[in-house]
Amino acid sequence: MVERVLPIDLLIGWFKRNEIKGALVDLDDTLLDTNAHFGKWIDRYVSAVVEKNPNLDWREVMAKLVETNNRLYETESVRRRKLAMVAKELDNVFGTYPTFVKHADIVGQIYRKVPLELEGARQTLEMFRAAGIQMGLVTHANRGWTEKKLYEHNLNHFFSHVVIVDEAKFKGPKDWLTAAKSLRLDPEEILFIGDNLRGDIMAAYEIGARRVVWIESPWSVYREGEVPEGVIQVKSIKEVIPALING
Ligand SMILES: [Mg+2]
Repeated sequence: MVERVLPIDLLIGWFKRNEIKGALVDLDDTLLDTNAHFGKWIDRYVSAVVEKNPNLDWREVMAKLVETNNRLYETESVRRRKLAMVAKELDNVFGTYPTFVKHADIVGQIYRKVPLELEGARQTLEMFRAAGIQMGLVTHANRGWTEKKLYEHNLNHFFSHVVIVDEAKFKGPKDWLTAAKSLRLDPEEILFIGDNLRGDIMAAYEIGARRVVWIESPWSVYREGEVPEGVIQVKSIKEVIPALING
C-alpha cells in the first residue's frame, strides 16, 4: 500500500530540509494582479482620449504612454504624481492640451481602487502559515494605497511585519534586510518571493539569500537585470508551492 503524502507535509519537509524558517514576499504582481489593474485603467484612459480626438491613433498613443511611463520610472520611481506627468507629456507630444490632463481622473482610478488578488495567492499564504513559518511583506508603492490594498484584501494578518518602501525611492537590499531582522532571522533562513528582478531577486541574493523565487514580472522594467543562478523561476504565485515540493 502506498501511503499518501499531503502537500502540507511535503511543504513542511521542504522548509526543514532547506532550513527555512520564514518567508518574505512582495505584494504587487506577486500576490495582487497590479499589472492588469494598471492596464485596465490605462486602456480606458487612452480610449476616452482617442474618442475625443479621432485623429489620434490608439496604438500610437498607448505606445507613447508606455514609453513615457517607463522612462519616468527612472526619476519618479512609483510616485503617484507620475501619472499627471505622463498626461502632460502626452498633451505636449500630440498637441492635444488639455485633453490628456483633463481625462487624467480616469487613470487616477488606479489609486482609488485596488488590484484583484492573483489566483493561488491566498492559498499559498495559508499553506505557509500552516507549515509554521513566519511571514513578512516588503512592498514598494504609495503608503495610503498600500494600506488600502492590504485592508481590502484582509492580508495584514498573514504578516508579522510589513515594510513599505517609499514611493519616491527604489526597493533594494536594505529593505529586505530590515524585514529579515524584524523576523529575527538571517537571510539564509528565509524564502524570498518577488517579481522585480533587481529590487526583489538580485537584492535578496545581495544580502545572502539562498532560496529565492522569481515570479517573472509582467512589467518589462522589472525584468531588467541578471537572473541569478539557482533562482527558482515560475510564472505565477500558484506555481510556487508545486515548484518547491517537486523541485
Ligand atoms: Mg512586485
